[in-house]
Amino acid sequence: MPQIRESTEGGIKSAKTRSLSTMLSRKTFAEVSLSSYRHNLRHFTERIRPSRIMAVVKSNAYGHGMVEISEASITEGIDCLAVAFIEEALELRKKNIAVPIIVFNYFEPAYVRSAKTAGLSLTISSNEQLQELKASSEDLKGLKVHLKIDTGMKRLGIRPEDAVSIVRDIDHQGMLLEGVYSHLSCADEEDEAFSLLQQKAFDAVLDELENVNILPEYRHLCNSAGAFRFNSERYSHVRLGIAGYGLQPSARFFDPNLRPVLRWKTAVSMVKSIFAGERVSYGGTFTADRTMRVATIPVGYGDGYSRLLSNSGEVLISGVRCRVIGRVCMDQFVVDVTDLKESPSIGSEAVLIGEQGEDKITAEEMAEKIGTINYEVTCSISGRVPRVFL
Ligand SMILES: *Cc1c(COP(=O)(O)O)cnc(C)c1O
Repeated sequence: MPQIRESTEGGIKSAKTRSLSTMLSRKTFAEVSLSSYRHNLRHFTERIRPSRIMAVVKSNAYGHGMVEISEASITEGIDCLAVAFIEEALELRKKNIAVPIIVFNYFEPAYVRSAKTAGLSLTISSNEQLQELKASSEDLKGLKVHLKIDTGMKRLGIRPEDAVSIVRDIDHQGMLLEGVYSHLSCADEEDEAFSLLQQKAFDAVLDELENVNILPEYRHLCNSAGAFRFNSERYSHVRLGIAGYGLQPSARFFDPNLRPVLRWKTAVSMVKSIFAGERVSYGGTFTADRTMRVATIPVGYGDGYSRLLSNSGEVLISGVRCRVIGRVCMDQFVVDVTDLKESPSIGSEAVLIGEQGEDKITAEEMAEKIGTINYEVTCSISGRVPRVFL
């Protein structure tokens, strides 16, 4: 067992010694294994050489804890980070994270000054946005930017044929063009055709910029799902998000080398018997058809445990799957423990995501049950759930 940085040994540390956000009064926490995270980074680093990893830590590092994950990335030798919004990048700078940080998404011109002060690299993704920046009263000189090319996603990005003129305009304003990138929309699909088209369009832009001697230092196309299939030596970085967290980037390819980083644990808050005909939780959507042993779990949709798991989710107690019965509430839900060899008691460990004994519940499994993807499952784990770093 690795050491928990804030040891929970000998039961739960007294409330006085913890900050509120790491208190464990209900023994509920997301355990984040930084060593598994670093293992996943190494796995990718070796396979994408000479390209390097840009660690994508947006949305609280997909729920894993942005600051700690960023620090672990840097310890592992990662030389740049990426987030969605300026606010996230500024939070990292406040925690003394000094490596380059790329901001992917739109920003109001009024934030140019704080971005420059913090040394952030911003994305320009349309000509309209560039004109908006020029029309603002902001001093654009020295602002580091990446230009986003739309090669088929149709979300953000300029058309490939506009690249050279926009790059010239960026240069003209005294901004520093640090990077050029695009994003694959179907990298997780078996059929490679569309990704190859996108790659071709992106490569054509690189060729054009190279021909006029304005090819920037950062060139990146691939996310996790694309990293092994569509990367190229010409690309300086792979933008690695989901796979770094040990989650499968695609439902079609399984990578056994990935180690899930997050486990979500809690403990039983009450155990009792209920009798035939008795109904459980709001709306009484579950009716016992016999005498049952049931346990209450102090986690709910307020923690990001989806209400769609009502009457369908499972948790592990003593290594056995126990089904959610009745509706998931904001702060708790009930599970069936009738079939356990030994009845659990208050404080018995329950695992919501991760392994326990011989079995495990994956974020992928949970996602499938509620009709979403693993990304949303871990991103949804709310700020009420303390993160404990191993
Ligand atoms: C979030 C994001 C990524 C990371 O994608 P994963 O599938 O999690 O690896 C890469 N690029 C952009 C532009 C993103 O917004």
